[in-house]
Amino acid sequence: MKNEKIPYKIYLEESEMPKSWYNMRADMKKKPAPLLNPGTLKPMTAAELGAVFCDELVAQELDDTTPFIEIPEEIRNFYKMYRPSPLVRAYCLEEKLGTPAKIYYKFEGNNTSGSHKLNSAIAQAYYAKKQGLKGVTTETGAGQWGTALSMACSYFGLDCKVFMVKCSYEQKPFRREVMRTYGAAVTPSPSDTTNIGKKILAEHPGTTGSLGCAISEAVEVAVGSEGYRYVLGSVLNQVLLHQSVIGLETKAALDKYGIKPDIIIGCAGGGSNLGGLIAPFMGEKLRGEADYRIIAVEPASCPSLTRGVYAYDFCDTGMVCPLAKMYTLGSDFIPSPNHAGGLRYHGMSSTLSELYDQKLMEATSVLQTEVFEAAEQFARVEGILPAPESSHAIRVAINEALKCKETGEEKTIVFGLTGTGYFDMVAYEKFHNGEMSDYIPTDEDLAAARAKLPAVDL
Ligand SMILES: *Cc1c(COP(=O)(O)O)cnc(C)c1O
Repeated sequence: MKNEKIPYKIYLEESEMPKSWYNMRADMKKKPAPLLNPGTLKPMTAAELGAVFCDELVAQELDDTTPFIEIPEEIRNFYKMYRPSPLVRAYCLEEKLGTPAKIYYKFEGNNTSGSHKLNSAIAQAYYAKKQGLKGVTTETGAGQWGTALSMACSYFGLDCKVFMVKCSYEQKPFRREVMRTYGAAVTPSPSDTTNIGKKILAEHPGTTGSLGCAISEAVEVAVGSEGYRYVLGSVLNQVLLHQSVIGLETKAALDKYGIKPDIIIGCAGGGSNLGGLIAPFMGEKLRGEADYRIIAVEPASCPSLTRGVYAYDFCDTGMVCPLAKMYTLGSDFIPSPNHAGGLRYHGMSSTLSELYDQKLMEATSVLQTEVFEAAEQFARVEGILPAPESSHAIRVAINEALKCKETGEEKTIVFGLTGTGYFDMVAYEKFHNGEMSDYIPTDEDLAAARAKLPAVDL
């Protein structure tokens, strides 16, 4: 098939879809650091994690030796409703840019949640149901994860309680209504329904909330309610594992035509879509079978990889969650309210943090006005209105393609188009009206949040 013209969309047959997820940690010689109990500073045991998370997900979280973990048939059947997702050759964008580079994107926005998050939500809901739980709690920032989880819970008949960061709750009422359509109960965070919410409200009256704070509330409710567990939409190893379906499909599609990417690009909030997209490629890199340039793209306003420190930190503001070793800005860090583009978590997946620390991947940060320029340029030629998060990857893919235009190199670039941006039109409106500004935290801002890192001496 090697010399055949590459179609605009490379689809896989249902029978070619992955039957197992791939766990990158199995091929890492130096493993990501374990989660620590914040009280004892000892690695979290399965029993301790089991108080917060479903048992099967705890097993996946702690498993850093099994390379392939079978995707249960029920999950594969659900995947078949909206997967395999297309891998698209961006011929129109290439032409518009006048670049000799070959650009591909893996589009994950083709489901009601509008993003890749459903890939893990359905897995987490499945394991919760299998364990006989009544329901799950979670947080959501921009709303994609809450939407995905609501869909997954309604499918399996589970109760779903979502704490939504207050500024998003107010800015994105339609997201909230989508969640309620699927039966979820949505509470703006911080709320007065939890102890930690009340404490945060007392200390910071008028706060518009943060992901770290919403996580604390969701964990408090899960731990305090019989038959409930907490689930998380990014950052954790288990989430990266489920998202590996993105990368496995991408690789299978490229392999069909004998295409080997030179550069793989993804936006990085907590790291789940990037970790999923790169998984099989990173596996080859770790095993010494192939080499790829892998680039994580983050907002300049929340630059955990490019300006954070690699240290143990709290995953949440309320400090109820285990400590994770990661690139972090400090759990107190809240990006400026003028930041519209998502990807606002203070830390980064410990697996990606370790890979970055080992220099197996690069990271770069971009300004939000540049991101929206790229988003608009992409929408106008490729027809898809991208999520602001995804547009971070688009920005860097375009930058790399323009470099190829200068050098004449025909590099193959693959990027993750994680979702659509229909619920982000307020941000697009600001951009169109010229009201969008760029914010880069100062070194003093970062030092202040960093000063509160827990003292963990290992
Ligand atoms: C949540 C989200 C992201 C960022 O989360 P990661 O865990 O870093 O992948 C990116 N794009 C979209 C559309 C999202 O919903």
